[in-house]
Amino acid sequence: MRIARFSLLEEHAQGRSTDPRFGIVGTNPEGQETLLAITGDPLYAGVQPTGETIPLEHVKLLAPVIPRSKVVCVGRNYLDHIKEMASDVPKEPLLFFKPNTAVIGPHEAIVWPRGSEQVEHEGELAIVIGRLCKEVPRERAKDVIFGYTIANDATARDWQKSDGQWARAKGFDTSCPVGPWIETELDTSDLEITVTVDGELRQTGRTSQMIFKIDEIVEYVSNTFTLLPGDIILTGTPSGVGLLPHGSEVSVTIEGLGTLTNKVVRNV
Ligand code: MG
Repeated sequence: MRIARFSLLEEHAQGRSTDPRFGIVGTNPEGQETLLAITGDPLYAGVQPTGETIPLEHVKLLAPVIPRSKVVCVGRNYLDHIKEMASDVPKEPLLFFKPNTAVIGPHEAIVWPRGSEQVEHEGELAIVIGRLCKEVPRERAKDVIFGYTIANDATARDWQKSDGQWARAKGFDTSCPVGPWIETELDTSDLEITVTVDGELRQTGRTSQMIFKIDEIVEYVSNTFTLLPGDIILTGTPSGVGLLPHGSEVSVTIEGLGTLTNKVVRNV
């Protein structure tokens, strides 16, 4: 099941609210993509359809989840990316945070933070946590995962190199595009990840190349941090990271999930 968060476009509202809502992505008998609206937030209220069906083209898709507390990220989780960065292979997952204020939705702009000269893309599979949990053994990781979405770990590479901590480099406003929806049933063991910038292929890899797998990551992260419903965990990026020029459009595609597209604005 694909769950999206959306707001009705003003011109299609017809008196209905344009406040953010959730819906199940589907197809009607005419082959048109639709959203079946659901009541409340599925992370808390479960999935209860209201009966209202809305054409997908009548809505703006929003970030499918706004993390209540945190975005946890795993760095250096693909060997070929570690090589291109001339980094050491980590013995344990390397973790860092993005604040929830960094999260944006599909088609919103990644805005270069003032002062950086090098903002880059990192396409990643993201885990969406479904329940409050701590110290989850890897065998039970599935029980706490609500679903998966696509993320772009936008990075001010110059600041990542110059700063001892990555808070600025990885946590600036708009540095965490997520979407376009959450897929609740997905075999993540071997999915292709690609990133294009203005249609040109930049990154390609497969989730099977992750050094630390999804279940190990959930175990490791939850051993240190309490996870809350709606928290997200980014699982690392394959090789091919590179610059996001002003005015460009970046798309991260993950097999079985879809495509997350964002434009890029250099703030000068
Ligand atoms: Mg990353």
